[in-house]
Amino acid sequence: MSLPVRDDLVGQQPYGAPQLPEAIQLNVNENPFPPSASFVADLAAAVGEAAASLNRYPDREALGLRFDLASYLTRVTGVALTVEQVWAANGSNEVLQQVCQAFGGPGRVALGFEPSYPMHPLLARGTNTGWFGVPRAADFSLSVDAAIAAVREHQPAITFLTTPNNPTGTVTGLDVVKAVCGESQGVVVVDEAYAEFGTSVSAVTLLAAHPRLLVSRTMSKAFAGAGLRLGYLAASAEAVDALRLVRLPYHLSTLTQAAARVALAHTDELLGTVEAVKAQRDRMLAALPALGLSVVPTEANFLLFGPFPSPGQVWQALLDRGVLVRDLSSAPGLSGWLRVNAGTEPETTAFLAALAAVLADR
Ligand SMILES: *Cc1c(COP(=O)(O)O)cnc(C)c1O
Repeated sequence: MSLPVRDDLVGQQPYGAPQLPEAIQLNVNENPFPPSASFVADLAAAVGEAAASLNRYPDREALGLRFDLASYLTRVTGVALTVEQVWAANGSNEVLQQVCQAFGGPGRVALGFEPSYPMHPLLARGTNTGWFGVPRAADFSLSVDAAIAAVREHQPAITFLTTPNNPTGTVTGLDVVKAVCGESQGVVVVDEAYAEFGTSVSAVTLLAAHPRLLVSRTMSKAFAGAGLRLGYLAASAEAVDALRLVRLPYHLSTLTQAAARVALAHTDELLGTVEAVKAQRDRMLAALPALGLSVVPTEANFLLFGPFPSPGQVWQALLDRGVLVRDLSSAPGLSGWLRVNAGTEPETTAFLAALAAVLADR
């Protein structure tokens, strides 16, 4: 018996990185540091207070939260932003889905430079938006000329630029963002999910000059809030208004809004983990070549390492030793590579020891 599922979804696989809590989990780029006791206490108090009004719908426009997000972005980028220029949703995945709903759709195409975040084509597909995956250079870089040529050829309604890029960790310069904005008739999304781990200037600094530019961010990574489900975007007020046409009413629950505001009030504490995460990333960048492996230069909290003739076997052997990394080697351009994110110091030690043992066994 077959269900009348949409033709274009038949035979597709849902997004799914393994979730194995008993392993050392270094496979989905989470921040390994759990929230502090004082943060948990403040969050519990705020959520308790918010719970007293759960008979009412939440603030549909999430104005208080968007104000706090605008303040944070202004603080870290130096760019003055109004509430009307900032949008928020349940993870940046939902923000990006709303972008596809508002600016993509049947008869339109989106474009990304691969390998990159596999959710971009998935969100395009789910919204009936066409997809062009344009290959990056062999070193995973993206030049101005290559980016312009791709936009000129495919005329995308949405162009995704991810920097630092997942899963390569590589950075795309603002010169490329500017060039793509200049060439494109459609919107240009710069996905800055890992910006806090890098040293690059944010594309938020280009917003005033480029009205079709949208910059997305998340609290899932540096902010150590993957379980919170809060992503956000900065753009022109007109672009944010377009997202309001497709969002579900009351999409951000009262509890999510309250929790995210507490997290933003604890910004310094939460982002205080970033240096420790970077230190473990840099430790892996130095240690993996000493094991005879190549690494890709990274400004994120993860890195690609390899190449392996059979990455799947290395992935399994690491898991057998209790360490879970990411095998993306079946994706175009990633054959042979595995991805690992920085953990705590003991977790990173365990990963390096497990990998050394696996390599010695081969
Ligand atoms: C992890 C990640 C996100 C974050 O998604 P959330 O829905 O906010 O958890 C967005 N973009 C990229 C490139 C990512 O790697």
